[in-house]
Amino acid sequence: YHAFINFDDILNFWARARPDDTALEQEGRTTSYSQLEENTRRIIALMAANGVTKGDRVAWLGKNSDLYCQLYLASARVGVVMVPVGWRLAPPEIAYILKDTGAKIVFTGEDFTETAAKIASELPANPIVMGEAQTRRAIAATEPGEHERVGDDEPVLQLYTSGTTGNPKGVMLSNANLLGLRNPGNEAGLEWNFYEGGECMLVAMPCSHIGGTGLVNIAIVNGIRTLIQAEFTPVGVLEAIENGATHMFIVPAALQMVVQHPRAVETDFSALKYLMYGAAPMPLELLKEAVRTMPNAGFLQAYGMTETSGTISILPPADHTLEGNQRMRSAGKAVPGAEIQVRGPDNKEVPLGEIGEVCVKSPSNTAGYWQLPDATRETIDADGWLHTGDAAIMDEDGYIYIQDRIKDMIISGGENVYPAEVENAIFGHPAVAEVAVIGVPSEQWGEEVKACVVCKPGHNVEAGDIIAYARERVAAFKAPKSVDVIAEMPRNPSGKILRRQLREPYWAGQERQVS
Ligand code: ATP
Ligand code: MG
Repeated sequence: YHAFINFDDILNFWARARPDDTALEQEGRTTSYSQLEENTRRIIALMAANGVTKGDRVAWLGKNSDLYCQLYLASARVGVVMVPVGWRLAPPEIAYILKDTGAKIVFTGEDFTETAAKIASELPANPIVMGEAQTRRAIAATEPGEHERVGDDEPVLQLYTSGTTGNPKGVMLSNANLLGLRNPGNEAGLEWNFYEGGECMLVAMPCSHIGGTGLVNIAIVNGIRTLIQAEFTPVGVLEAIENGATHMFIVPAALQMVVQHPRAVETDFSALKYLMYGAAPMPLELLKEAVRTMPNAGFLQAYGMTETSGTISILPPADHTLEGNQRMRSAGKAVPGAEIQVRGPDNKEVPLGEIGEVCVKSPSNTAGYWQLPDATRETIDADGWLHTGDAAIMDEDGYIYIQDRIKDMIISGGENVYPAEVENAIFGHPAVAEVAVIGVPSEQWGEEVKACVVCKPGHNVEAGDIIAYARERVAAFKAPKSVDVIAEMPRNPSGKILRRQLREPYWAGQERQVS
């Protein structure tokens, strides 16, 4: 058995083994595995003709696209570093990333060429901007050539973290990182089960995030069909499932929109074999609703981060039983090949059942952040363990229970409160559509717990009502002392709640103490 750890080998292999099978599909446009292998070689030649070779960076600014997938896979064969930039970011944020990378070419998707050209004209690297139609024509007109396969450990993808806790950081990932835990032999460990035939991976989450590009990786390494949607819409997901999507990944906020969409009740979900969710805490009530809506799908929770090339622990379908199952609150166990330890401030493992920081050792861990040596040293210790910044408890069977980010922990009257637990409790309130819990300054408690809620359409809530509801479900010191009803939840393009933005007005000018 040969473990693939380089996309160059993978593309050659599937081009021979499954030449006519569809590799990529978007809006009815398909690319077979043999075309994908050839197109990526054309792209390598095209980039070289523009002076871009191993170690250079190129960027993609656009929605999800089969063109992006081909550009990325071409880069991964030769060691050009692809940087997909989130199209939902504001122009100054896009400029920040493009400047940080020093990309030589900015490939753009439909409708992003003007934005890119404007930003590019002000960048020191003065990148070439190539629009989608122009790029497609150039690929078709370029002869595929020979190339040198990139080393397994050289960076090929630079993904920016979601920017939930601060400025996004460029995470450098190599073929070995991206494929170390993800070759076909290991997929059994991930419980995705790709061997029945007819598999189709729906990529609806943004490819600027590991939840998008990571799925392209999994699909291509397994030689299955990747169905690409330009952007997430609940209707798009429902239609893709009706049209035969068998595997997908989705963040909790998006899953909520799918499950609660009026069309969900008349949707036939039977094609969907596996639904993976993660990237943010999953409210238990929402998960149960989703399981009831799609009773035939295998649910998988994934816990991971950009720095670990995605998934490091999985809660398998068997642990998604509805009644009396504590495990449904867990983010599962380390995937084969990855090790997880829960460590205390002394960098030693805490006893099972106690809270500490999730630390990971895995072939999929990044070698570091782009041009941030201090942040790299703070994150990856001398023994190669990556410190995630997430607090968790591990049980005797190795299941981890993510509490929340350490930076978001609230210390109120000397007690530690993890917002996710309180959010989970409030989420079940019939009038609440979305909830975020933050710590605000308090003379009496140091910090006190505040809930920010968005009401369901046509509903209203009283602060006292939310507080009472929470007190019935969590300890009194964890229940909010105040409630803000807000019109919209601030989220980043990965769908994650920006608690720092909610906190900001309350902490203006003051430093929050984080342990
Ligand atoms: P930044 O690092 O820029 O602040 P980010 O951490 O949100 O942004 P990502 O790499 O996209 O960027 O997200 C990884 C984080 O997402 C994890 O550290 C964890 O806090 C959270 N996360 C991922 N999966 C889960 C999960 N299953 N349950 C709870 N939280 C999760
Ligand atoms: Mg992070």
